[in-house]
Amino acid sequence: MRVTEVFYSLQGEGMLAGVPSVFVRLAGCPFRCRWCDTAYAWDYAAGEDLSPDQIIEQVNRWPCRFVVLTGGEPMTAGDLSARPGLADLTQRLAAHGKHITIETAGALFLPDLACDLMSISPKLTNSGSCHGSVTGGHQANRLDVETLRRLIHAYPYQLKFVVESPEDVTEVQGVLGGLGELAPERVMLMPQGTTTEELLSRSPLIADLCKQTGLRFGPRLHVLLWGCRRGV
Ligand code: SF4
Repeated sequence: MRVTEVFYSLQGEGMLAGVPSVFVRLAGCPFRCRWCDTAYAWDYAAGEDLSPDQIIEQVNRWPCRFVVLTGGEPMTAGDLSARPGLADLTQRLAAHGKHITIETAGALFLPDLACDLMSISPKLTNSGSCHGSVTGGHQANRLDVETLRRLIHAYPYQLKFVVESPEDVTEVQGVLGGLGELAPERVMLMPQGTTTEELLSRSPLIADLCKQTGLRFGPRLHVLLWGCRRGV
């Protein structure tokens, strides 16, 4: 399995924000979001090939129960099929007593994952595609409500939407309307921003939009603390 980096940091987003966690950043993403902060992980050939045992050996260098499988897009191969070996890796990590979060765009449903938190960041229209996607269809493939519904029914979940404007929140509500009843504390609006300055300047608007909708404000602690760089 191709791995871009393994590092120890604080979870920056979602319900576990602030929890020390080991991150396994798998290589490759079929999308090309305009504001992606991990473009260095887009290439499926980035990083190095590690076996599941080698990944677990690296994860266990830190005395930490929380493991985040991220990317890139950890669920998919470049053609949007299932990433080979992912289910096996999650099951092995679970056997080591790890709490597993999977950070995904939610474009593919996979059964049989050992996953304590399916952290889904569905991509809105605002994600655009800055360089064209591997699949050639960012807008066509970025969001499928039926796939989201299957994921949130199969796994403990959270939904994190990156927003910039009130129009984005209207789009969020349209997506949520197709998902049935959801726990509002599991649905977050996160300000778009890859620098501390951008985040802080957008946060008051997003806070107001949270108050209007009853949705949760989603921090991006890693960007606030360290800005947009690798290994954090
Ligand atoms: S899906 Fe995630 S990793 Fe892929 S380009 Fe978009 S923001 Fe970046």
